[in-house]
Amino acid sequence: MTQHFLLSAKARTLSLVKVMRMTDDEAYDAFKAIRWADNDGEAICPRCGCAEAYEYRARKIFKCKGCERQFSATTDTIFASRKMAIRDLLAAIAIFTNGAKGYSALQLSRDLDCQYKTAFVLAHKLREAMGAEMTKRTVKGKVEIDAAYFGGYVKPENRKEDRKDLRRTENQSGKRKAVIVMRERQGKTLAYVAGSEREGLPEIVRRVETGSHVYADESSNWDALHGMFNVGRINHSVEFANEDVCTNQAESFFSRLRRAEIGTHHHISGAYLQSYANEMAWREDYRRVSNGEQFAMIVGAALAHGVSRQWKGYWQR
Ligand SMILES: [Zn+2]
Repeated sequence: MTQHFLLSAKARTLSLVKVMRMTDDEAYDAFKAIRWADNDGEAICPRCGCAEAYEYRARKIFKCKGCERQFSATTDTIFASRKMAIRDLLAAIAIFTNGAKGYSALQLSRDLDCQYKTAFVLAHKLREAMGAEMTKRTVKGKVEIDAAYFGGYVKPENRKEDRKDLRRTENQSGKRKAVIVMRERQGKTLAYVAGSEREGLPEIVRRVETGSHVYADESSNWDALHGMFNVGRINHSVEFANEDVCTNQAESFFSRLRRAEIGTHHHISGAYLQSYANEMAWREDYRRVSNGEQFAMIVGAALAHGVSRQWKGYWQR
């Protein structure tokens, strides 16, 4: 399994400096070791699953002994039809990994001296791979639930008498979205983008397992959760925690997402909010894992992930 390689000492020592010192061949071998971790880095045909292949080392391609088709180390992965050299690709992932508050495509394009568009698509492909493990996830046990609003900022008028009440729906841009988080205590995080807290309720019912203990704040939108779960409510205007009733871990997820929005991206479009929320959920869940391991996990997730339907040939459309 991929996990074996990721937990090995070899995986833990991967770093940006090491990547940049690699020769093309060393980078290629590291890439293969992650892609085919469960076969000691030896190629497995992506078409028929045959583990015997001829290797054309100079052209960096393989020919399957079973079905005789040719493939490369990136065939059927998110990096298929890549234009970047493998070492640069690994360096890009190492840089992206180290951005605890996320990493902007503009900065990545400067670091790598590549086009903005290339960096933009690469970063989104990595987010897609990181988010893949969350798409079918459910959470259970002690689960904190909270929501925060992102996007749709309306700049207040200069003069006080011209200002509108921005709390009223008709004065908002209509682009504001709620990110709802369901976070297991000492466990996994699940983020879901909805139009409002109330619109997110069905997803909470789908993704939080029956019998779970749910913790939420005083917002009346969460009243509906009573009767479905064992619910503990905390009134934030009175206190932040009452014994173990609190939403502090949900809050720390929002703190990371908010810092990514304000400090890194400055603006997050509603269309991509779910991807950024997934990225930050991933970063929260693996925050105690060394950055070398995180790096190997992201490369591993990207290589295990099929060709991206959303991002393949994005700029050609
Ligand atoms: Zn084959």
